[in-house]
Amino acid sequence: MNEMYEKMGISEKVLKFSETVLEGLKERFDEADRIAEYNQLKVLKAMQDNNVSEACMYGSTGYGYNDIGRDTLEKVYASVFNTESALVRSQITCGTHALSVALSAILRPGDELLAPAGKPYDTLEGIIGIKEAKGSLAEFGISYCQVDLLSDGSFDYENIKKAIKPETKMVTIQRSKGYQTRPTFSVEQIGELISFIKGIRSDIICMVDNCYGEFVETIEPGDVGADMVVGSLIKNPGGGLAPIGGYICGREELVELCAYRLTTPGLGKEVGASLNVNTSLYQGLFLAPTVTSGALKGAMFAAAVYEKLGFRCVPNATEPRYDIIQSVVFGKPEGLIAFCKGIQKAAPVDSFVTPEPWPMPGYHSDVIMAAGNFIQGASIELSADGPLEDPYAAYFQGGLTWYHAKFGIMMSLQSLYDEKIIEL
Ligand SMILES: *Cc1c(COP(=O)(O)O)cnc(C)c1O
Repeated sequence: MNEMYEKMGISEKVLKFSETVLEGLKERFDEADRIAEYNQLKVLKAMQDNNVSEACMYGSTGYGYNDIGRDTLEKVYASVFNTESALVRSQITCGTHALSVALSAILRPGDELLAPAGKPYDTLEGIIGIKEAKGSLAEFGISYCQVDLLSDGSFDYENIKKAIKPETKMVTIQRSKGYQTRPTFSVEQIGELISFIKGIRSDIICMVDNCYGEFVETIEPGDVGADMVVGSLIKNPGGGLAPIGGYICGREELVELCAYRLTTPGLGKEVGASLNVNTSLYQGLFLAPTVTSGALKGAMFAAAVYEKLGFRCVPNATEPRYDIIQSVVFGKPEGLIAFCKGIQKAAPVDSFVTPEPWPMPGYHSDVIMAAGNFIQGASIELSADGPLEDPYAAYFQGGLTWYHAKFGIMMSLQSLYDEKIIEL
């Protein structure tokens, strides 16, 4: 084994250090395995209960009428996420699109959207109109109200109550911290928030942005009263095999509205050919619990490694985890850059290229990104990025297998060691 790691460019020092750190993670890894085992059975049961058959693996073309594979997959998703119905489509281009469809399907002029747990993900700013953008909900006369978290990261129930007005139609709650500094919410916490809101007005539609959270716990937002659960197939639930797509699970009437928004009023779910993606979406969902647990172990390993070296990690090495994102605060640009270079070197695709910081649209500083992916931009695959600004934090996620995630972290360590940023 040591020889193999040496051939892969890992020095003995890095190897030893990594193995020592790993010894302390056994219990947490066991817990991740138990969650994966439970979720594997959950997915399997959903497939069996919905009679997934060989015919489901074939796709459709043209209008896509009577696409049994697509329609059955939607039933499987509804079972897994414990909702009445689901829209799972390759025509949903990404997670942002899924969220946009969900919001614009439900909200009407004069309605208000409430974010009771702080500002949502960056890409939603333009959709909602927090930031001026053509075609935003604001342009259609839909208003927005936000209640920030309290300084200890908990929900500000008092102000949430005050923020609920007669025109409040819908609430958006983001499970994962995304690229913010707040902690990720557990499904249980989300459930408490939903109960509180429903206790004030039971007709308010509660949507959860589930990105990066799927299969990290044994329960999902649909189990705790969410009316809509939304996410991307090139993150956790696609298991790395889904080449494209997004999902919206939820109450029947709401999912129907989403289908009318995604395709057209009247046509809804009836159209939308699956082409050749059905098998990948099924197989990806089937593998998703295992893939997610591998990514989760990678995140735990990264936190333990970098915390031991004195870097601040969010979440830290011992906190409970509710998503697969790990941030490591390097405090200086050299650290962030060396980390990303190491991750890139560990990739199965494009391992020979060197990531460089560049002025990415939408960011106010240069951003460095490392990804050597099979599926463009799929962040369930091993990837890392971070803006070149104080505190020079790297955001790391994914890994289709635990062994690859482990190797990626070791390569990042080697890279920092070679650049003399760390001592071992
Ligand atoms: C990734 C992500 C999104 C958006 O997904 P894209 O597929 O990148 O458009 C939305 N919300 C959260 C919390 C995310 O992590």
